[in-house]
Amino acid sequence: MAGKLDVYRRKRDFARTPEPAGAPEPGAGTGRFVVQRHRARRLHYDLRFEIDGVLVSWAVPKGPTLDPKARRLAVHVEDHPIEYLLFEGVIPSGEYGGGDVIVWDTGTWEPVHTDDPRAAVEAGELHAEVHGHKLRGRLVLVRRDGGDGDDWMLLHKRDEHAVEGWDAEDHPVSVISGRTNDEVKADPDRLWRSDAPAAEASVSLLPEPLPDEAIDELEALGKQGTWEVFGRRLKVTNLDKVLFPGRAGEPPVTKRELLAYAARIAPVALPYLEGRALNMHRYPEGAERPGFWHKQRPEHAPEWLECWENPDADEGETTAYVVPGEPAALVWAANFGALEWHPWTSRTERPHEPSYALIDLDPGERTGWEDLLVLARLHRTALDHVGVTGRAKVTGRRGIQIWIPVVAGYTFEDTRAWVETLSRTVGKVVPELVSWKWEVKARKGLARLDYTQNAINKTLVAPYSPRPAAGAPVSVPIEWDELDDPDLRPDRWTVRTVLDRLAERGDPFRALLGAAQELPELT
Ligand code: MN
Repeated sequence: MAGKLDVYRRKRDFARTPEPAGAPEPGAGTGRFVVQRHRARRLHYDLRFEIDGVLVSWAVPKGPTLDPKARRLAVHVEDHPIEYLLFEGVIPSGEYGGGDVIVWDTGTWEPVHTDDPRAAVEAGELHAEVHGHKLRGRLVLVRRDGGDGDDWMLLHKRDEHAVEGWDAEDHPVSVISGRTNDEVKADPDRLWRSDAPAAEASVSLLPEPLPDEAIDELEALGKQGTWEVFGRRLKVTNLDKVLFPGRAGEPPVTKRELLAYAARIAPVALPYLEGRALNMHRYPEGAERPGFWHKQRPEHAPEWLECWENPDADEGETTAYVVPGEPAALVWAANFGALEWHPWTSRTERPHEPSYALIDLDPGERTGWEDLLVLARLHRTALDHVGVTGRAKVTGRRGIQIWIPVVAGYTFEDTRAWVETLSRTVGKVVPELVSWKWEVKARKGLARLDYTQNAINKTLVAPYSPRPAAGAPVSVPIEWDELDDPDLRPDRWTVRTVLDRLAERGDPFRALLGAAQELPELT
């Protein structure tokens, strides 16, 4: 075993860490293989076979193939630690192999014609029967020129799994996440720290969930008290007050339950709120009494709560806004009676430049849920057609919104005009569903495709914000294909159910973080 990882170790600097590097898992044997699509300085595919507890590896510039006519160059590279097997994420630029990595294929394999694959590799010829999602059948690796260089040839035998003309680049999606390299690069779940011991090299970039003990402490408080959460000491009040009536057959939602939700969702919701002024829709007497907008950061707000002074504020307008810069800020807002969180569409450092173009599908009284789904699907098709990335969310009330991340430099006039052009094109397909009238009455119950929300200090409800209605429904991001889920409803999820959904499905809006794009000209 000794020596197999020496080259790997030499290429990395372990000086920063005293732990022994790259100890193989005891008893790990032959069995698994992986192909990672790795965009480093050059795109290549890393083909790795698990042998004696390490990953014996080749870099294949054009990728492995099922095409029996193809002969692929495969450069034998150093063994990799077994911990790398299902790594998908980014390797920081400047480090060895810097770039983005997806698990392009994985499965099991058996060596053919030998019981000693390590010896077969040393002898310069490995036959492998692979059972992956994309790769199946017999792969053969042969060292070129019979020498001892690193250049090998990779081919697929002409067997029942062979497919002529098959090209890896036509199958670009990860088999474990369904994402492309671009999508993983835009929003990596993990980082590979090449300088760390293998067991610690894969670092999660996902938000740290709130420990259960923090919720236990909230439960143990009386009607009010001091709650230590996310490292902040917050005075929390009126904890047993009912803020939302229950849905049929369910108990009402108290302020204590709202605070628990705010704390649990904060690490997930924060990326959509941080660095932005927060407009708070407050309902201190609960969702059944009228609410009001509160934008001014109150005098009694704790010092750690970030603040932004709006340089454009006119006489009598809000001068100082709360900017949620950490998870505890959302708990503070919930305790302040903010049942709804509305972040600005622009960031405080560039208040006149939106970072999202927003499509607000606003149903009229006569708009059925199926009609709204039609409008959402048509927008999805239109976005696909012009090559623009966006994601939808249900509002928690009746509507659907589509958020489109844009690069810096656009004005609100720009995004508003772009969304108007797109939505008018969509509206022409289904004129019977849509009204362009400004007055609600004049719309005759039809839906509005509301591009006017693209304006400074106009806001849409934040992803994962509660809404002031029975059961405390939540605005929830969805995947596009969920538009076809017969159980989808605009108010399907509540503060009681959305965390389970997140655990199962993840957060579809994460794909938008880091995906800022230019908007193509629409004609
Ligand atoms: Mn590589």
